[in-house]
Amino acid sequence: SPPDWPGEVHFRPIGRVCSPFREKFGIPRQARLAPAARARLEMLPPYDREEAFSGLEGFSHLWLLFVFHQDCLAAGWQPMVRPPRLGGRAKIGVFASRSPYRPNAIGLSAVAWHGLTRDQAGLSLSLSGVDLLDGTPVLDIKPYVPYADALPDASPGFTGKLEDRRWAVQFSDEAEQQLAGADPDGRLGLRALIEQVIGLDPRPGYMDRYPRRDTFALQLHNYDVQWQIAGNHARVISITGAA
Ligand code: SAM
Repeated sequence: SPPDWPGEVHFRPIGRVCSPFREKFGIPRQARLAPAARARLEMLPPYDREEAFSGLEGFSHLWLLFVFHQDCLAAGWQPMVRPPRLGGRAKIGVFASRSPYRPNAIGLSAVAWHGLTRDQAGLSLSLSGVDLLDGTPVLDIKPYVPYADALPDASPGFTGKLEDRRWAVQFSDEAEQQLAGADPDGRLGLRALIEQVIGLDPRPGYMDRYPRRDTFALQLHNYDVQWQIAGNHARVISITGAA
C-alpha cells in the first residue's frame, strides 16, 4: 500500500449521548421513527466550544456518526446478517444492512436538533428522534443538507417491501397512575415516548414463534415499562422505578 495509507485509524469521541434508552431492547431501529425520543449530546473537552457550532443555527437536523459501543466492538462482524426488518430470518450482506455488527462499528443517524446549552454539565446539544443507547460515543456531527442528503427518488431496497405496522397503545388504570407519578409535569415526555417505542413493536421478529408469551418489559429513563399484546393493540400494565 502507498506510504501514507493508514493501516489503522484511531478516532477519539467528541461527545457522549444521554438518552432514555438504558438497554438495547426497545430502541427504535432507525432514527426519526420515535420523534419523542429526546436526548442530549454532551460535548467532551476540547470539543466543548461554542465557536465550533457557529453557523449551525439555521439547520433543523444533524448527522451523527457514532460508535455502536455496546457489545458490537467486542463481537466483531459476520459477512451476512439477519435484519429485524425481514423478520429476523432472511440473511443479507452486512453492507446491505444497517446492522450494528459491522467491520467498523460506526452508526449514522439523522436527528433533529434544538439548540446548544451551556450548564453545569458543560456544553450540550438537544436532540430528538434518536435511535441511540444511553452513553453512545459520538465521533462527528455534520449538518443535514437537504439539497445533497434528501433523495426522494431513491429506491428503498428490501426495507421498502414490508408494511409499517404501529400498535395502538393503551394504558391500564394502574399504569396511568404510575405514569402521573413518574412524569408529573410531562417534562420527560414519557407518555409519548412509551406510545411511540411500544407502538413500533420492538419485539424480535421471531416472536411470532412464541405465541404464548405475551408480557414484555423494557427500560425507559429510570422506569421499567411492562406491556402486553392484546388483540390488535398493546396495553401498558405497569411503569415502575427501575431497580
Ligand atoms: N441509524 C443508525 C445507522 O443506520 O447506522 C443505527 C441503526 S441500528 C439498526 C439501530 C440499533 O442500534 C438500535 O435499535 C439499537 O439496538 C442499536 N444501538 C444503538 N446505540 C447503540 C450503541 N451505542 N451500542 C450498540 N448498539 C446500539
